[in-house]
Amino acid sequence: MCAKLEKTDSQHITYESLLQGNKDWVAATLQEDPSFFDRLSAGQKPPVLWIGCSDSRVPANQITNTNPGDIFVHRNIANVVVHTDMNMLSVLDYAVNVLEVEHVIVCGHYGCGGVQAAMSNKQFGIIDNWLRNIKDTYRLHYHELDIISDPKKRTERLVELNVIEGVFNLTKTSIVQNRWSNGKTLSLHGWAYSLETGFITDLGVTCNSNDHMANVFRIAESAKKA
Ligand SMILES: [Zn+2]
Repeated sequence: MCAKLEKTDSQHITYESLLQGNKDWVAATLQEDPSFFDRLSAGQKPPVLWIGCSDSRVPANQITNTNPGDIFVHRNIANVVVHTDMNMLSVLDYAVNVLEVEHVIVCGHYGCGGVQAAMSNKQFGIIDNWLRNIKDTYRLHYHELDIISDPKKRTERLVELNVIEGVFNLTKTSIVQNRWSNGKTLSLHGWAYSLETGFITDLGVTCNSNDHMANVFRIAESAKKA
């Protein structure tokens, strides 16, 4: 652990050093807990699904002080949650219905390059199509965002709104609504992580049922198949 903390940049990371790092980690882990891999290989039952940004500075386990086996993870650029994303839907379905996680956390982070790119008018390539989902979120909340004069604060608020919309988009899925209608416990949460302080902020948008959902998004019992 100390050796890890001593690393201040990524310049010394090489292909070979990654493999050596793996050997070192296995040795250190076994020294601390000889049955670690026996236990881990027996199966997983994580209580949490994490939907976060691909950013290398926001690793789910490290910033929550958890271990392998504790968190089921899905990451994409700017932690976007859209219901046309088969990858996200597959992860969500497996996590909710097979692993039976009790919490789904959408975690964005201040200083997100994806959100910053979405706020600009530049072309970045293929990724523009993905980031357009964040532009849609901006359009939904432009009354609030346009009056924030400080560009950094405006970006930070869009980071939060992107997370909040992500949580709401989860509630719109049949996967989540079926879970709730079956009387199972499932809580959805929205978090924002600070690269500057290391602290996570709970954005206070936890959803446990579809009680507060706009009626148009509620899926009728008879249609709850997909
Ligand atoms: Zn990011």
